[in-house]
Amino acid sequence: MLARSRGGVNEGGTSSGRQVENVSFGRKMRLATLDGRPFMPKLPLTGHCLCGSVRYEITKPLLFAGYCHCTRCQRRTGTAAAASARIAPGSLRVLSGQELIKAWRPPDGFAKIFCSNCGGALWSQSREDPEVISVRMGTFDADPGVRPSYRAYVAYAAPWEPIPDDGLPRFPEARKG
Ligand SMILES: [Zn+2]
Ligand SMILES: [Zn+2]
Repeated sequence: MLARSRGGVNEGGTSSGRQVENVSFGRKMRLATLDGRPFMPKLPLTGHCLCGSVRYEITKPLLFAGYCHCTRCQRRTGTAAAASARIAPGSLRVLSGQELIKAWRPPDGFAKIFCSNCGGALWSQSREDPEVISVRMGTFDADPGVRPSYRAYVAYAAPWEPIPDDGLPRFPEARKG
């Protein structure tokens, strides 16, 4: 029986009461209940923006997830770090609100996609490969199964909030490996 690690992944609890253990790091999905059985979320996963105008579905299991501490994520969210989950290529479909979807495209780095009605963050998208998309985890309607498995850009972490001592690998800049 593994002891539950403290902090991090279970913050805020889950509506289903399901307990989730950290089972691996890196790109591997962290998908297991405390009794060791794998937990696969029901597909498609669905989610929506703050006002509910933009709705989407994801038809394949998420690949991995992580926290980003970069200053863009700080300003984008008004918080110290942001959790996003990488989707399998081609698995995202917008169900409603397509006309409200806007993007901020910095000259370097991923485009930040959001709902222009409520300002709610939706996902980020690679400039080089539009198939590379990371959905903001706060937009999911239900437990997506995957758990953040790393912390990136910690060199820029907000001075006003300690980085949680959750055992996740930390990268000063982008995630490696
Ligand atoms: Zn909205
Ligand atoms: Zn970031």
